[in-house]
Amino acid sequence: MWFSSKQWGKTVSFVLSAVMLAAFVSCGQSNKSGKPIANSPDNAKATGKTISMATFEPTSTQPQSTATTTEKTQAAVKTKASAKKSSRKTTATQAAEPASPDNTREAPRPYEGFLGSARSLDGTTVVFSVFASDLSVKWDEKSQTDAETMKDTLDNLWRGTSYLTEQVAAFGKTASFIYDWERDDDLKYTASFDDNLVTEYGDKYEVQRNWVLQNIDTDAVKAKYNADNAVYLFFFNTDYSNQVNPWTLGYTNCSEYDVEFCNIYVKFDDVFISPPATYAHEIMHCFGAHDLYYANAHIPQEYVDHCKKTGSNDIMYTVNDGKWIINDFTELDAYYVGLTDHCDEVEKWGLAKSEHLA
Ligand SMILES: [Zn+2]
Repeated sequence: MWFSSKQWGKTVSFVLSAVMLAAFVSCGQSNKSGKPIANSPDNAKATGKTISMATFEPTSTQPQSTATTTEKTQAAVKTKASAKKSSRKTTATQAAEPASPDNTREAPRPYEGFLGSARSLDGTTVVFSVFASDLSVKWDEKSQTDAETMKDTLDNLWRGTSYLTEQVAAFGKTASFIYDWERDDDLKYTASFDDNLVTEYGDKYEVQRNWVLQNIDTDAVKAKYNADNAVYLFFFNTDYSNQVNPWTLGYTNCSEYDVEFCNIYVKFDDVFISPPATYAHEIMHCFGAHDLYYANAHIPQEYVDHCKKTGSNDIMYTVNDGKWIINDFTELDAYYVGLTDHCDEVEKWGLAKSEHLA
């Protein structure tokens, strides 16, 4: 189901919110075909959004419907952003230098087919960037514009992973990311698919999974960096006219999905460029975090309503536009990505148990 988001998106161009998983794959369960099941239309009401509903991860805007509210929010965002900017310099420096292989780390555990390619966020993660062309969009490496767009994704990746490193540290854990494909060329790939992958449906999972298995020697790269986890970011060179928003498929969608990947559509929905917060949000899905902005198999409607009522700033409920991430990485998120083994809200609201405790 689709809702027009054009007017909405243009009136609120600064505050981008809620990456919205409006349809998800139910593999091997009620939907044997692996085709995505569209969510009920009331998901839109839950967050007051008028964004498309048939996508995996539509990113839409906060329900800031009046100019006054929008201005207030913008002011708040600006203040927080500048504060964040100064406080993040240290982290930025650290993150800009991917950890060199540390021989004191334990050897990576062999993949056991459990929790997918990304397990606990407490560890070292290799991020593979795949610049994907399909029947609808292409990358032209000779184009300066495309080269700049690629470079922007690297900057966003740095910001998104720096955020995660910083947030995870607050829980006494260490999340390191190896992602800099300018420095290490075994992290960057180009792919060409004779298919349409800019789609809100996740039924092409196997196409991308097979590409990964055939083209990336994940075990070798993980061993090189002493990494525990692998995530794959497929970047599609979409224009603003694209109406499909970024989304992720992994173990949380289906226990058979061992290759956990995010489809980042670089531009979408008339006005948006996928911001760093979207990168962090999508990567968190790979580790087990659930969307909080619509009712799903893990999150009941009551909790969604609670988030809306309290104006949640949880990054799994809402994502902000702009270069600096100002969303909250909450105790609930920490619980779902394997950092903790308890969260009061899970029992209080009847939320699903963390996959890390299954
Ligand atoms: Zn999401």
